[in-house]
Amino acid sequence: MIAGIPECLQEFEPTHAEALRRVDALHPAKYALSRNALDGAVSGLSPYFTHGVLGMRQAVARVVQRQRLNFEDKLMFEFAWREFFHHVYSREGDKVLTDMRPTSVWAGSYARELPADIREGRTGVNVIDAAVRQLYATGYLHNHARMWLASYVVHLRKVHWRAGADWLYGHLLDGDVPSNHLSWQWVAGTFSSKPYLFNADNVAKYAPKGDFKSWVSKGSVVDQSYDELDDIARHQGDVGVEKGTHAGVTEAATLAAPPAEFASTFLSSAALSGKPWGKRSIELIHPWAMSERSSSDASGAWRLGVVHVPAHSALPWSEARWRWVLRRMQHACDGVFMGDVSSLRLPAEGQTTSTAAPFPGYAAALQAVAEVSAAPRLLVNPQQTCRSFSTFYEQVKRQSRSVSALLNGELF
Ligand SMILES: Cc1cc2nc3c(=O)[nH]c(=O)nc-3n(C[C@H](O)[C@H](O)[C@H](O)COP(=O)(O)OP(=O)(O)OC[C@H]3O[C@@H](n4cnc5c(N)ncnc54)[C@H](O)[C@@H]3O)c2cc1C
Repeated sequence: MIAGIPECLQEFEPTHAEALRRVDALHPAKYALSRNALDGAVSGLSPYFTHGVLGMRQAVARVVQRQRLNFEDKLMFEFAWREFFHHVYSREGDKVLTDMRPTSVWAGSYARELPADIREGRTGVNVIDAAVRQLYATGYLHNHARMWLASYVVHLRKVHWRAGADWLYGHLLDGDVPSNHLSWQWVAGTFSSKPYLFNADNVAKYAPKGDFKSWVSKGSVVDQSYDELDDIARHQGDVGVEKGTHAGVTEAATLAAPPAEFASTFLSSAALSGKPWGKRSIELIHPWAMSERSSSDASGAWRLGVVHVPAHSALPWSEARWRWVLRRMQHACDGVFMGDVSSLRLPAEGQTTSTAAPFPGYAAALQAVAEVSAAPRLLVNPQQTCRSFSTFYEQVKRQSRSVSALLNGELF
């Protein structure tokens, strides 16, 4: 266990029951007061939302059974950030992997590789090294730690945001292309109007009280005024590693395919095409749609878990994430197929359906074999493409008026 970090942000059981337990522990007022602190009352729900174990709509419906919630609550606001990133992805698709605005903050060229001292958590800047250690140990980081890490990588070390985004994505249990890659761009200034910067005072304010010493970064390069940091971001090169030698950690491997131990549990294409399906319909369950099987679901559809392996070499996952996803998929599905999904030969008689997957390379493969519908959302997806969160949220509020109207599907 990592000192100072709440236990619920260190272990994430891949079950629907655990997701519900976390929703029930949510307290919107406490959340609003403490969410910026690394030991604040945040939910650790992100792996469950990312993988569709629980939808945000179900989560909000459950919260309002116990507590008041409106659009001005911080919790709703943060839920909406995820929906905003997915709104942008629903319009721009894989363009989110490249600069949303062609101008960058700094006139120099950013490195395309992340330096070893960052990967190994031995930069000598406490907050960065502590975040890297936590990331590898748990697959999770608090939002503030992600912002600090991204800001340091891009603005102080002059690494292109994409290199940082791909690396962080690979180690998170909740790695979500729209949220992750667009957040990196927001920090970098290619999806916002200015660079996001932080300093040692900001870290001291929000560091975990139970392990303050490991995070606090007084005397390091981030211990400067915002004007000085802005000058580095806009006009200076890589600040480099802090003087002295610093102990590091070994970077966990990332894999483009699942660990071998799962191989015997997968169904082959031949086994699937030979099945006596009759008129039965098939629901394809990809890694971002692993909802709980509903006891009231009368459709009787066969739930086929699918992992489209060719897509995963572009953004590989940690072994821990593969295990998390496959354990969940095996529980939520009747069988799992692993391979090239577009080569699947499924019976023509019944219907084969799927929801869209927010991951490069899945769209064409799913469309080749299934009727693909939009992924479920909490908020309305405005017709006009919104490039800023405030425009997006204004539109959503105008169309839905209140959280209960939103849950009832009333539009104005
Ligand atoms: C550089 C960077 C990379 C990020 N990468 C990811 C990612 O890969 N996957 C991911 O889900 N989130 C990502 N985020 C957003 C945010 O940091 C996480 O969603 C949040 O920290 C998850 O912790 P939680 O579930 O305890 O959040 P809580 O504070 O409990 O929030 C509840 C839920 O609201 C959503 N949410 C909260 N804050 C944000 C936010 N700022 N942006 C988008 N959604 C938010 C998440 O779905 C989260 O689970 C990233 C942020 C940054 C700055």
